[in-house]
Amino acid sequence: MENNEFDIVLIGAGVIGLSLAFRLKRVNKQLKIAVLGDPMNSLMASRAAAGMLAPFGECEHADRFFGFCRQSLEKYPGFIEELASMTDVPVFFSMQGSLMPSSFYGDCWEDRKRFLKQENISHEVWDPATVREKVPHLSANCGEVLWVGEGQVNNRQLHDALIAAANVLGITVLEKNVTGFLRDGSVIECAVTDSGIIKGKKFVLASGSWSQQLGKILDVSLPIKPIKGQMCRVQVEDGLLEYTVHGLLTYIAPWRGGHGFVIGSTMEDRGFDNSVEDEVIEGLIDRASAILPCLKEAPLIESWTGLRPAAEDLMPVMGKSVRYENLYYSTGHFRNGILQTPNQADYLTDIILETMQDEIAAFSPSRYQL
Ligand SMILES: Cc1cc2nc3c(=O)[nH]c(=O)nc-3n(C[C@H](O)[C@H](O)[C@H](O)COP(=O)(O)OP(=O)(O)OC[C@H]3O[C@@H](n4cnc5c(N)ncnc54)[C@H](O)[C@@H]3O)c2cc1C
Repeated sequence: MENNEFDIVLIGAGVIGLSLAFRLKRVNKQLKIAVLGDPMNSLMASRAAAGMLAPFGECEHADRFFGFCRQSLEKYPGFIEELASMTDVPVFFSMQGSLMPSSFYGDCWEDRKRFLKQENISHEVWDPATVREKVPHLSANCGEVLWVGEGQVNNRQLHDALIAAANVLGITVLEKNVTGFLRDGSVIECAVTDSGIIKGKKFVLASGSWSQQLGKILDVSLPIKPIKGQMCRVQVEDGLLEYTVHGLLTYIAPWRGGHGFVIGSTMEDRGFDNSVEDEVIEGLIDRASAILPCLKEAPLIESWTGLRPAAEDLMPVMGKSVRYENLYYSTGHFRNGILQTPNQADYLTDIILETMQDEIAAFSPSRYQL
């Protein structure tokens, strides 16, 4: 094989593309794999997220998506251990759990409790006295609080570890912007980049919010758009809170390890606008301070905007193309891509290596004739 020729070419160097390359190579070390990422757009989801591993805070129905996310959470400890065995990059990961204060859930509070019980999800209901004892820094206004067995990861460290693991495994990670494809009928032969062509036997489109643009070049209509989220990170002592906290449209994600707490986030349908508005960040801090009052005075470390890749039906687009013989998709992971990372890597590996035939219909590219 020539230097620019690969068995599998993944377009997208976020957590989705890198974790898939990682799993493919772990399953078959003979595979020659390239991951292409446009450095300009790399920070907009995988490194912009809060790293909450929260299927129980995010999902309200026990559908196929919920099952997939729950399974991914279960895989996380092993996935982090596997990465740690291969690289020296430290990744903060905790299964300490999440808190949901009743005062933010209003009318849906009893439904939430019922759902957790019904689905046999590990949880506890803490009365205000228990809350004071276990989390003394939480506002007394939080009322009754649910503790739920979920996780938290520092997603920037996770991304760093995936890049380091790719190097260890001999995966080729290239900073290249894909601008076109060379095709022969229904077979993609090459990705055209701003610095030459990359030949591949199989291609995977894992380009997050930019997937629609790449789809256009391939004459497919991929209904994915960016949903903007403004976020910030404040300096807080590690020991102040060991749980992730979900309020309504407000969350606090402890990155710990001296990295402070992330506060999020807005949901804005504003295209690729990546501006950060001071008043929005102030609003986020105000709402988070209603949960954890010490955040009001905490020094601001940074604020930023991220772009969540959202499909029209808000489900991920994962599986084999119906239009191209050698094209696969893993995109549209929207609000939960960090959570879905280990499971999507396993799922797509099985599909690409043809060790599993039955795709999950709700995620299949065929629902959009892709
Ligand atoms: C504000 C915010 C908070 C979030 N919080 C959480 C959370 O707490 N928990 C959770 O589970 N999820 C969260 N998410 C969602 C999660 O971050 C995403 O679902 C996930 O990171 C998507 O990863 P990705 O690799 O598909 O996309 P990205 O990280 O956006 O990566 C896309 C890749 O495609 C590459 N690319 C694009 N165009 C081209 C091109 N033409 N040529 C070559 N490469 C190209 C880019 O360079 C990049 O490498 C959050 C997202 C945001 C924005």
